[in-house]
Amino acid sequence: MNIEENISLAPLTTLGVGGIARFFVRAESIDDVKSAVSFSTNKKLPLFILGGGSNVLISDRGWPGIVLQIAVSGVEQEAQGEKLLFTAGAGEDWDTFVAYAVERNCAGIECLSGIPGSVGGTPVQNVGAYGQEVSETITSVLAFDRREDRVSKLNAADCGFTYRASIFNTTQRDRYIVLRVTYALNPAGAPTLRYADLQKYFAGRDGTPTLAETREAVRKIRASKGMLISPGDPDSRSAGSFFKNPVLTQAQYAELTQRAKARNLQVPSYPALAQQHKISAAWLVENSGFAKGFGRGNAGISRKHALALVNRGGAKAAEIIELKDEIQRRVQGDWNIKLQPEPVFVGF
Ligand SMILES: Cc1cc2nc3c(=O)[nH]c(=O)nc-3n(C[C@H](O)[C@H](O)[C@H](O)COP(=O)(O)OP(=O)(O)OC[C@H]3O[C@@H](n4cnc5c(N)ncnc54)[C@H](O)[C@@H]3O)c2cc1C
Repeated sequence: MNIEENISLAPLTTLGVGGIARFFVRAESIDDVKSAVSFSTNKKLPLFILGGGSNVLISDRGWPGIVLQIAVSGVEQEAQGEKLLFTAGAGEDWDTFVAYAVERNCAGIECLSGIPGSVGGTPVQNVGAYGQEVSETITSVLAFDRREDRVSKLNAADCGFTYRASIFNTTQRDRYIVLRVTYALNPAGAPTLRYADLQKYFAGRDGTPTLAETREAVRKIRASKGMLISPGDPDSRSAGSFFKNPVLTQAQYAELTQRAKARNLQVPSYPALAQQHKISAAWLVENSGFAKGFGRGNAGISRKHALALVNRGGAKAAEIIELKDEIQRRVQGDWNIKLQPEPVFVGF
C-alpha cells in the first residue's frame, strides 16, 4: 500500500472543487483496502471512500484524514440459467463496463451508458437513468464490512435499493466498502426503450434498435444535456443532477398545483416520474427564477440542464454551496418544497 500525503482532491472529481486530503491511498487490491482501513483505525483518522468522484462536493478545507480511492479492477463472467453474470471490480470505469456488456450483446444496463464514475459507486445511490436502475440487474455486492472487519457478500435484497438510495448511503452509511459488484444481464435481450426521450430518438424507425444503437442514442441525448463528461464541454463540469426529484404526498401535490395555478403555470407530468409520485426538480428550479445558464461568481447552472450546478472555472466549494442554498431557499419560498441535494458532501 502506497500512502501519499497532501493530495489535491479537486482534480479527482468531476466538479473540480475542494481542498486536499491529508493522506491518500489508491487501493488496487482487497489487501490494500484492508491495510488502509487498519491505518485509519490505528491512527484514529477519519476515512472517506472515493470512486470516480462524480457524485461528490468536497469542501475547500478538504479531508483531514485518509481518502481511500477504490481501484480494484477486473471483469469476470459466468452463465447462470438464461442470464450471464458479470462481476466487475469496484474500480472499473462504469461506462467502459457498460460498453463491454453491450459489445457482448447483453441487455440490462444499456440505458445507463455515459454515466461517469466507477462500478463501485453504482450500488451506493442505485444509479439510474432513461428507464433503468442498477437495482434491476445487481444480484450481489462483495464489500468490506468495517463494523465486522471482514469481507462479506450482500445479496440484492440486503442492499435496500430505492430511488437514488441503498443501505450504503442511508442506514449503513460508512459501514461497507464496495469491492466487486455482480450484474445479471440478458444475452441477446432487447433494449429498454421506456423513456420518452429514447422513444422520440427512435421514432419512425423500422424494427427494434440494437443495444449498441441504444447505447449510442443515450450518449447523444446525454451530451445534448451536458450530462456526458467531455473535456470541451464546460456544462459537463458538474456532479450531475444536483437535486433529487422530490417525492410528494397527495397534500403537497395539491398545494403545488394550487400555487402553479395562481401563477398560470401547469406542473408538467412525466409518466416515468408520476409512477413514483415524483415531480421534476428541474421544473421547480426553472420556475423559481433560475434559468439555464444562470451564474453566480464562478458557480452557475449548466446552460443545457437546470439541475446541474457547474464550476465555471476556479470555483470554490463555498460558491457552489451558496448557489445551492439560494436555489433551495427560493424553491422553498415559491413552492413550499425543500429540494434535497443528490451529491455527497465531504469535509463540511
Ligand atoms: C455529468 C454527470 C452525469 C450524471 N448522471 C447520472 C445519472 O444519470 N444517474 C445517476 O444515478 N447518477 C448520475 N451521476 C452521478 C454519478 O455519476 C453516480 O452517482 C456515480 O455512480 C458515482 O460514482 P463514483 O464512483 O464517481 O462515486 P464518487 O462520486 O466517488 O462517490 C459517491 C459516493 O459513493 C461512495 N462510494 C464510491 N465508491 C465506493 C465504494 N467502492 N465503496 C463504498 N462507497 C463508495 C462515496 O464514498 C460517496 O459517498 C452523474 C454525474 C455526472 C458528473
